[in-house]
Amino acid sequence: MNAHGPAFPARVVLATGNAGKLREMRAILSPWHVEVLPLSDFTRAAADETGLSFVENAILKARFAAEASDLPAIADDSGLEVDALHGAPGIYSARYAGEPADDEANNRKLLRELENVADAERTARYRCAMAYLRWPSDPAPIVCQASWDGRIGRGPRGSGGFGYDPLFIVAGSARTAAEFDPAEKNRVSHRGLALRALVAALGGVVSEP
Ligand code: IMP
Repeated sequence: MNAHGPAFPARVVLATGNAGKLREMRAILSPWHVEVLPLSDFTRAAADETGLSFVENAILKARFAAEASDLPAIADDSGLEVDALHGAPGIYSARYAGEPADDEANNRKLLRELENVADAERTARYRCAMAYLRWPSDPAPIVCQASWDGRIGRGPRGSGGFGYDPLFIVAGSARTAAEFDPAEKNRVSHRGLALRALVAALGGVVSEP
């Protein structure tokens, strides 16, 4: 037991339909031998993301998944915050170019919006809120947040990752996130940091990445 009740669960549902996120979260969780089930095993529906922050939306998604599965749920809400765009696309990152969500259309729109922005002004960061609910009405969600700094390039590079990764040049590196190999991205990314912090908050032992 820890302050949040029973320690690490044996089975959890991951509240995401995003294949890229699911792949990364499964890999990040693999050292802890948790049985990880995707939300698609239980329903085709998705939570209404009506929150105005990553934290609110992560809780809404986790609650929806816990309800659909009868299992403890982990949800990621994440997005890209671009300084020259006053934080856009932010919580609207998945559907920046409209519905249905389309990574390539989002990337094209981002390049268009930043066309006249100088290199030094193209700073950005990924943000991630990771929420854990033991059951749908859990009054004590655990939420861990992390970010990953970078800047937006002038064209796509690399074939790894998903979403905005081909445009996201990692701070302190000349490479985009799509040029990182998957394990390397998971060690330093917003999602890797937030999910390992969540594991630690649940009583899991986290060694250095
Ligand atoms: P969500 O499913 O509403 O949380 O939307 C997350 C969106 O943010 C994704 O669809 C991507 O557009 C973007 N995003 C979040 N994390 C990443 C990442 O690690 N790489 C690339 N894009 C990301």
